[in-house]
Amino acid sequence: MKVIKSSREIREWSRTQQQKGSSIGFVPTMGFLHKGHLSLVQKARALSDKVIVSIFINPTQFAPNEDLDNYPIDLEGDLEKCRAENVDVVFIPHKNEMYSDFHQTYVINQEIGQLLCGQTRPTHFRGVTTIVAKLFNLIDPDFAVFGQKDAQQSIIIKNMVRDLSYRTQIIIEPIVREEDGLAMSSRNKYLSPRQRKNALVLSQCLKFAENEFKRTGRDINNLEKEIKNRIGETPDCKVDYVEFVNEASLTKKFVPGDKVLLALAVFVGSTRLIDNTVLTY
Ligand code: AMP
Repeated sequence: MKVIKSSREIREWSRTQQQKGSSIGFVPTMGFLHKGHLSLVQKARALSDKVIVSIFINPTQFAPNEDLDNYPIDLEGDLEKCRAENVDVVFIPHKNEMYSDFHQTYVINQEIGQLLCGQTRPTHFRGVTTIVAKLFNLIDPDFAVFGQKDAQQSIIIKNMVRDLSYRTQIIIEPIVREEDGLAMSSRNKYLSPRQRKNALVLSQCLKFAENEFKRTGRDINNLEKEIKNRIGETPDCKVDYVEFVNEASLTKKFVPGDKVLLALAVFVGSTRLIDNTVLTY
């Protein structure tokens, strides 16, 4: 397994593979890898001849008051996990390799990026689309694998690929959970044992909604209220948003048969966790 740190080198490596006729699968991450990330790597491994994983804590997707400086890091552990998954290249650029001091240009999603997580994190998706566009420009992957855990991000990336004519095929993999239901996330590391226990309210509310949706049909307003109450009543937990939206457009417009994304963002202490499930209207 090769570790590459420079943009020039990752570009050259990718071009050489393409000239040899090898397909490239790409998994962008911010590191501190867990089984959720590794499920994406396994998918990329199954689809492509060569697999690249990037590890880059992208500063432009963090607002000044967010956790950029405390974001968990375990480079040695990450490399070991990538080696075990038979990854060909881990791309670990330094911040200066990706952004000059005079960085001027961003990729912006006009509308969807302002909904859901965009309300609390208005510049977040601009950072995500910009770094993914840059990484796609360097690597030009055949496949890029993302997680349903970040449902809104997945939709925004699919939109970007369509709108900006990238040739990369976007693959979305299901949410990987701990045994007790908590969605795996690098940020779970911030939780105290008590918060970790209380954080189970997210996945429990999703399960509750799945059952209620089947049992009572489409009473979205009531369900939304009930979920907000349940989370509000849980110690350490504060609702950021609870929203039922059309999975394709993220709007509130549904017709029977549509896929409905139930997306949650909850502050557990000062840690903001997200989770979601997809229902059929
Ligand atoms: P991150 O390192 O948090 O930026 O995540 C990198 C990729 O891993 C994104 O595509 C995430 O959606 C995906 N991911 C994170 N957590 C999970 C999970 N629990 N299950 C599946 N994919 C995940």
